[in-house]
Amino acid sequence: SVALNDVHLAFGSNKVLRGISFEVPAATTACLIGPSGSGKSTTLRIVNRLAEPDSGDVLLDGRSVLSDNPDKLRQRVGMVFQHFNLFPHKTVRENVTLGLIKLKGLKDEANERALLELDRVGLAHKADARPVSLSGGQQQRVAIARALAMDPEVMLFDEATSALDPELVKGVLGTITELADSGMTLVVVTHEMGFARSVAEQVMFMDEGRIIESGQPDQVFEDPKSDRLRHFLSQVL
Ligand code: ATP
Ligand code: MG
Repeated sequence: SVALNDVHLAFGSNKVLRGISFEVPAATTACLIGPSGSGKSTTLRIVNRLAEPDSGDVLLDGRSVLSDNPDKLRQRVGMVFQHFNLFPHKTVRENVTLGLIKLKGLKDEANERALLELDRVGLAHKADARPVSLSGGQQQRVAIARALAMDPEVMLFDEATSALDPELVKGVLGTITELADSGMTLVVVTHEMGFARSVAEQVMFMDEGRIIESGQPDQVFEDPKSDRLRHFLSQVL
C-alpha cells in the first residue's frame, strides 16, 4: 500500500498541499483528478520524494519512507511523466537497461530483463531501434518498461497520455490497464475520465491543495457531493 498522512507543502506563500491524506491499498488503482494547479503533480512528486513535504508522512506498506535514501525509494516507486524523456542517442533496449546497470548493478541480466519488460508493453521488436523512430505512444510505453524494469511496488503516472495524439492514447491506457490487472499498485493522475471510471478502485478529486471528495468511481462520477466536483465534471465529461 501507499499512503500520505496529512501532508502539507508550501512554495513561499503558495500553500500547494493543505493536508493531503489517502491510502491506496496494495494491488489497487487510485486516480487523482482535479483542475490545473490543484496540486496533483506535487502530490505524486511527494510520493517518490521529488518533493519533500513541510509536514506529514509518506508511507509504503505502513512504514514511513521519509528517512529512506531517495534513490532506493525510487526503485520501489516508479514514475512515468507526460514527457517521457528517453535518451535519444541510446537504443530502446539501452534506455531500459541503463537504470538496471547503474542503480541495480546488473550486467548480462539487464538485457534479458529489458527484453522481458519491452515484451510486456508489446515492443520487444523495437529493442534495437532509436526512440526517435517510434511513435509517441510507443515511446511512452518504453518509458513504462523502463520504470517496470526496476521491479517497483508502486507505479505513479502523471498525465502519461496528455502529450499523445488521440489515436495513440488507447494503446498507452491499455498498457496501464494491464498493469492494474496484473496486481500492481497504481496512482494515476489523468484527464481520461473513462479510464478512471473503468479501471480505478478509488477516485480522488483535488482542488486547491485538498482532496475534496474521494470514493469509488461510480459514487464520485454519478453522485458528486460538492459543487466544485459537479462543476469540474461538467467541464471534463
Ligand atoms: P496541472 O493539471 O496543470 O498539471 P497540477 O494539479 O499537477 O496541475 P501542480 O503542478 O501540483 O498542479 O502545482 C500546484 C501548485 O504548485 C501550482 O500553483 C504551481 O505553480 C505550484 N508549484 C508546483 N511546483 C512548484 C515549484 N517547484 N516551485 C514553486 N511552485 C510550484
Ligand atoms: Mg500536473
